[in-house]
Amino acid sequence: MMTDKPFDLHSLKKEFHKRLHQTENLEGLEEIRVCYFGKKGILQDLMGMLRLAPKEKIPELGKEINLFKEELTKDLEGKKRNVEERLLALSLEKEKFDITLPGKIRNRAHSHPVLDVIEKMTEILRSLGLKEVHSNEIEAETVNFDLLNFPADHPAKDMQDTFYLDDSMLLRTHTTTFQVPMMRQHQPPMALFCAGRVFRNEEVTSRSHQQFSQIDAFHLGKGVSMADLLSLLKLFYRRLFGDNVLLRFRKSYFPFTEPSVEIDISCIRCEQKGCPICKHTGWLEVAGAGMMHPNVIKAGGHDPDIYTGWAFGMGVDRTLMLLHNIPDIRMLWESDTRFLHQF
Ligand SMILES: [Zn+2]
Repeated sequence: MMTDKPFDLHSLKKEFHKRLHQTENLEGLEEIRVCYFGKKGILQDLMGMLRLAPKEKIPELGKEINLFKEELTKDLEGKKRNVEERLLALSLEKEKFDITLPGKIRNRAHSHPVLDVIEKMTEILRSLGLKEVHSNEIEAETVNFDLLNFPADHPAKDMQDTFYLDDSMLLRTHTTTFQVPMMRQHQPPMALFCAGRVFRNEEVTSRSHQQFSQIDAFHLGKGVSMADLLSLLKLFYRRLFGDNVLLRFRKSYFPFTEPSVEIDISCIRCEQKGCPICKHTGWLEVAGAGMMHPNVIKAGGHDPDIYTGWAFGMGVDRTLMLLHNIPDIRMLWESDTRFLHQF
């Protein structure tokens, strides 16, 4: 067919739509764009040819080329949107997740339960007016035993019970060691407590360990009495375990107190009905206490005729075991994260 046009837009359009139809990715569509609309593309060729056409035809042909360009641009963009939507749907399908699945729980670090219970117990002591002090884990034998009125042949001094480092130094067997050094540094009245680790060369079982934590306290001053001690301990254990807890004092013996008592609380697990934890007695032994022995006050550099004082020591680990119903003391020292994350 003869034509007076220098180009065949109809065929070009047909060819364009054929290519568009066959292309299903963005790279291919970009190639088509460059081929038609690029600097050396078909549109540029058409503009070149337009200049060769007879002058009177140029406006009309120019209009046709513009329409051609607009139509092709519109179709190319439509196809591009189409492909993009399909790719998005595909990737969503691939990354589809089930919102009913349980989330990942990240393990967060937290303080050890022994530290938590020490904090809880010492916070109560602070609220009752006692001041916290620290003392050494490595101590002289004299401070650990002799100055606390232990007789020279006391069985606790035996190598079997105590970790000696050399002839005179040892790992403290109780936090009571803080008493004499503190009395030598301060003038009465003083009401102090010390919390920390203690060490004993004992067989490791579910109920005993070679290291455990204690809190020791004493109050030295004029007219300090046993009644002060008993009322303070009542307040302490009620704040720790609740208002229903009952206290019982039993006569006992410690070298550094006279008189000495053992403190029991009513079983917090069974409310005194009887359970394995209290060995069906309804009572739990939680602390030792008494009036400071005159020899200890003297060793601290003060006159026992002028000053009197009470003292007590309590186990932290046992309290923690009671609070959380932990059956085996070894669990507190094994750093098993499956156990620790329960707190
Ligand atoms: Zn019980």
